[in-house]
Amino acid sequence: MLDVFENLESEVRSYCRSWPTVFDRAEGSFIYDEEGRGYLDFFAGAGALNYGHNHPDLRRPLIEYLESGAVVHSLDMHTKAKRTFLELFRDLILEPRGLEYRVQFPGPTGANSVEAALKLARKVTGREHVISFTNAFHGMTLGALAVTGNSMKRGGAGVPLSHATPVPYDDYFDGETADFLWLERVLTDSGSGIEHPAAVIVETVQGEGGLNAARATWLRELRDLCTRHEMLLIVDDVQAGCGRTGTFFSFEEAGIVPDIVCLSKSVSGYGLPMALTLFRPELDIWEPGEHNGTFRGHNPAFVTGAAALERFWSDDVLSKEVIVKTQQLTEGLTVIADRCAGAQVRGRGLLIGIAFDDYSVASTVSSEAFERGLLVETSGPESEVVKLMPALTTDSDDLQRGIEILDEAVDTAVACTAVA
Ligand code: PMP
Repeated sequence: MLDVFENLESEVRSYCRSWPTVFDRAEGSFIYDEEGRGYLDFFAGAGALNYGHNHPDLRRPLIEYLESGAVVHSLDMHTKAKRTFLELFRDLILEPRGLEYRVQFPGPTGANSVEAALKLARKVTGREHVISFTNAFHGMTLGALAVTGNSMKRGGAGVPLSHATPVPYDDYFDGETADFLWLERVLTDSGSGIEHPAAVIVETVQGEGGLNAARATWLRELRDLCTRHEMLLIVDDVQAGCGRTGTFFSFEEAGIVPDIVCLSKSVSGYGLPMALTLFRPELDIWEPGEHNGTFRGHNPAFVTGAAALERFWSDDVLSKEVIVKTQQLTEGLTVIADRCAGAQVRGRGLLIGIAFDDYSVASTVSSEAFERGLLVETSGPESEVVKLMPALTTDSDDLQRGIEILDEAVDTAVACTAVA
């Protein structure tokens, strides 16, 4: 059943190893394998499916668009689909939040958006150096990897990863050491050996790096520090954006305005590849075509992206629901974590999970959950965190069902590791 994957597909394949079945259909919060077995999907395409699988209000306009003979591929030429998306993004997302950003369509992946952001920051400032954070994850291309923490991923680069320095993320130490103590000091010390950085790149919640969530005060301090030291602030909202934490952008709660924002994953709303890099208009010093690519804005993704904005961001219903669902999930996870010594609930919004002291527990929980019909991933440098990222549209009964399956999976995993 898995022969062709195991014999033909590269060893680099990964998620399929955690969930060894062949998936076929999907609807809402469920994905079904070819045997017809349903799985409650608390992975949601690593955040690419915030509105669930195959949402009918997004699928309908997509099918109509494809059947109408409208243009599918157009590089970055003007199309009606792109115009509609841009107008809605301006009217429903940027203007109501008082954000004056230019919109760049880089290639369709999160890493493409990050590369564009880093390149632009370097071009604008004329500086090479970028500050990143411990346990950050920004993608697998060389520029993005240079600002990523994970040593296994970095090891795959094959060349030195340069022009970036990691500094401690929020709460990296003991909570006693003043935030930004080291960074503030080295930026003002001409003998520190740290070149003046072009930018600082940050995730408000570290989705891959262990669900560390920065406090709003820490983010505000970071914004202030960047302004004082004339460094551009890049927020990578590839995973935490598009409503995952309750607001469209994850930095809204902190009340900060980044200079550059990276978005991808759920921006098309339907799982179609699409990415945006947003920046203040003064930073838009690109020469035409200076940053290029064949798949910069894909019309089917504009169609579903526009439908998602209209459906979910014309009012605050979804945002309010995310707050209620976050509360439900947090309560459920807290009950589970309280039973396991050293376990801790981490994250923000519907990007939340449990970190275990014993690093082997989370992977066992993930496979036990799979056996019981629930997809959950692990996160963190040692894969020590069970990460829950249900679609924002998952109803409260299904959330409860997920918590119950997780509860059983944790009991089994903890018992297994205690025996081992
Ligand atoms: N930034 C963040 C915060 C991410 O979580 C990811 C992907 N997990 C990326 C960038 C890279 O996105 P992609 O895999 O689409 O290149």
